[in-house]
Amino acid sequence: MTQWVYNFGAGRNDGRADMRNLLGGKGANLAEMASIGLPVPPGFTITTEVCTAYYKQNETYPADLDGQVEAALARVEEAVGLKFGDAKKPLLVSVRSGARVSMPGMMDTVLNLGLNDVTVEGLAAASGDPRFAWDSFRRFIQMFGSVVLDVDHHRFEEIIEAAKLDRGVAEDTELTAEDWKSVVEGYKAMVLEVTGIPFPQDPKAQLWRAITAVFGSWMNTRAITYRRLHDISAEWGTAVNVQAMVFGNMGQDCATGVCFTRDPSTGENIFYGEYLINAQGEDVVAGIRTPQPMAQLKAKPGEHSMEVAMPEAYGELVRVRETLERHYTDMQDIEFTVQQNKLYMLQTRNGKRTAAASLKIAVDMADEGLISQTEAIKRVNPASLDQLLHPTLDPKAPRKLLGKGLPASPGAASGVVVFSADEAEMRGAKGEAVILVRIETSPEDIHGMHAAKGILTTRGGMTSHAAVVARGMGRPCVAGAGGITVDYNAQALSAGGHIIRAGEIITLDGATGEIFIGNVAMIEPQLSGDFAKLMTWADSVRRMKVRANAETPLDADTARKFGAEGIGLCRTEHMFFDPARIGAVRQMIMAETTEGRRDALARLLPFQRDDFAQLFRIMAGLPVTIRLLDPPLHEFLPHSDAEIAEVAANLGVEPATMHRRLEELSEANPMLGHRGCRLGISFPEIYEMQARAIFEATAIVAKETGKAPVPEIMIPLIATKRELDITRAQVEGVAAQVFAEAGTTLEYLVGTMIELPRAAITADKIAEAADFFSFGTNDLTQTTFGFSRDDVGKFLPDYVDQGILPKDPFVSIDVEGVGALVRIASEKGRSVKNGLKLGICGEHGGDPASIAFCETVGLDYVSCSPYRVPVARLAAAQAALSGGGADRTA
Ligand code: PEP
Ligand code: MG
Repeated sequence: MTQWVYNFGAGRNDGRADMRNLLGGKGANLAEMASIGLPVPPGFTITTEVCTAYYKQNETYPADLDGQVEAALARVEEAVGLKFGDAKKPLLVSVRSGARVSMPGMMDTVLNLGLNDVTVEGLAAASGDPRFAWDSFRRFIQMFGSVVLDVDHHRFEEIIEAAKLDRGVAEDTELTAEDWKSVVEGYKAMVLEVTGIPFPQDPKAQLWRAITAVFGSWMNTRAITYRRLHDISAEWGTAVNVQAMVFGNMGQDCATGVCFTRDPSTGENIFYGEYLINAQGEDVVAGIRTPQPMAQLKAKPGEHSMEVAMPEAYGELVRVRETLERHYTDMQDIEFTVQQNKLYMLQTRNGKRTAAASLKIAVDMADEGLISQTEAIKRVNPASLDQLLHPTLDPKAPRKLLGKGLPASPGAASGVVVFSADEAEMRGAKGEAVILVRIETSPEDIHGMHAAKGILTTRGGMTSHAAVVARGMGRPCVAGAGGITVDYNAQALSAGGHIIRAGEIITLDGATGEIFIGNVAMIEPQLSGDFAKLMTWADSVRRMKVRANAETPLDADTARKFGAEGIGLCRTEHMFFDPARIGAVRQMIMAETTEGRRDALARLLPFQRDDFAQLFRIMAGLPVTIRLLDPPLHEFLPHSDAEIAEVAANLGVEPATMHRRLEELSEANPMLGHRGCRLGISFPEIYEMQARAIFEATAIVAKETGKAPVPEIMIPLIATKRELDITRAQVEGVAAQVFAEAGTTLEYLVGTMIELPRAAITADKIAEAADFFSFGTNDLTQTTFGFSRDDVGKFLPDYVDQGILPKDPFVSIDVEGVGALVRIASEKGRSVKNGLKLGICGEHGGDPASIAFCETVGLDYVSCSPYRVPVARLAAAQAALSGGGADRTA
């Protein structure tokens, strides 16, 4: 018999933390918490397999589920001494979803289930608190009504607002038992009016309808969108947790809270979160009342920390916090309720955190001895480091404050104001930086939050939807900026006498909660402290070297600052666009004869020599790979009539001549055309000039420093060994000349990019002429798939949406196809040259998943853009730790 239902609490725990696939994260951890002796109200989990079966069997349940639920419910009744549906001592339960990975706010919850016209009286009598009983009943109708019966939640709020108006009070807490009773009457009448059916009174029917609604919520649009954004499979399903209710709304010695065992924004080792006295769970997140801080240290004037207001329960919670961190060895995100000063735990899970917090927590926990350094390296998502490497607001920059809210997610962002998620998505897709401004966000807004550079809300706290989601996405967020008024109809926001309309620019500082009018200057991040520490640990375990793709001194400097161990790709053509040189480049292209070209190239030589000398100096002995000219020549000529006229005049040629040359150079598929080594073969003088510049620069720096750099000269777009033989011979010829002139001999390497399938397949032949290979996986992806790098955006999103490709293959390497070519080329290359140096310099060199693949192939280094160097260092360490090397020798 399949076990569909797992018990937890009151001495019977069928589940464990490692059973999250079956029990969902919430169910697995409730069982785990109960089994380590924490106070968990008893309950049971209906497994994710039931969800899967439910959808497979046309939305029906396995036949034996009913009996298992009955038995589990009976156990809970016995454990708490109450009976479900009993007129005198009714058991109430919560029904909550819980998937394998947490999907905050994505699915539905029903609390206080089991109340009806009879049991509410029983609850009132048993608790001696009719107000509490009727408040619970109205909460139940409200939640059940919106989640299960699909009644718009505004309809409920209208009735409460009317009751408050009637009674002349401002807060829900000021309403009496009688008031709530009439609210309940109003609710029931409204539900009947909207649904045509009276509110269900039978607790068992309520239970099954709630369970079905939770399973149903697995397929609602917001859950589907969330899954798509987070790569969660629809097959996983959700579990349903049914648990005896404990009440945070029974009076002043009751409370409920949501908190983190460390600060999820900064990682600071302090109890962090919010709680509310005399409230139930949803009140904390809904923003109806302002939640209060947990720790007194975090309390501002006028706030009442739990530490001071409920010292006993707080003390217990501090002990639980330590137990949980020791047990899970990670920062936990917990939910709790205090009922008459007694603490109950309702949830624990590894807490979502910002990149900064993730780094600090990993390093602190290693230093505290909770985890090893190796574990700390594995804990930090390399891609998230990107967020730490980006600028923050320059403290000295002038700024005009518009308003202030809560610092909900750190980082700074400037952009144009938009007021809807759809507009954020639309303008974001066009490459515009947008700030999404909402009164509050809901799960329906996540596509817009994803597209926005920053998020601003005027309502809600640190655990509001906007705050939680923005932190997870790494978007700066200012939440609950109450001083700002948003008018969706007028498409404007106003604060302190300023009006900002849609399309105008604001700047957010997610670290302080401040909002500024217009753009504010930003500064580079600090790379010391915890960051440097983790990087040192990562460097001590990684095998692959990390180099940078850089050609300007600024990029090279940045790369070194980020820990690059050399340059893996200097795209020399980028040096040609400088205003001081482009004239000579164009003169070279326009020249009709070899002599003419040589004259123009002679003008370029000193510039190139200086460029290379500077790179050698900055890299101070580290390897520098210089790629000879790659793009088709037409890229250097102007294209509009006006520009052509101007450039022609500067060069002293007729515009018509330039038009003719452009026509000669025009190709149907320039990326498959006259470029790369093909240029070097047609116009040997170009590569000769570049080689000369490299060797002369080497000689200069050798003289200056007494230590000669060893340049690695790289020929692009090789398809055949013969191409490499010819271009290599050009380079060697120049080397001999320069060495003779200088009266010295210098070391250098000549290698090739492997960026065409033919080169990969014949790599054993090519290796005979190459001192190294560098995989140009941008072109290799382009030519393996036959996807144009420049046009693929038109259809690739459809391919990814339809699951034809799991990811954009220009971002993360296609292991099966392009990766196979990389592997073949590596093996063939090394079969003729043992220890042939291998690297990668396509964009994939900065992508953690691709870096993991490179480790399995045994590449010597990856090369990526300067800002991604730390990402690559950490990813390479993780790849080494996960045993990529073992795979390589297998
Ligand atoms: C490549 O093709 O992967 C590469 C690094 O060269 P480029 O992007 O300049 O074509
Ligand atoms: Mg290329």
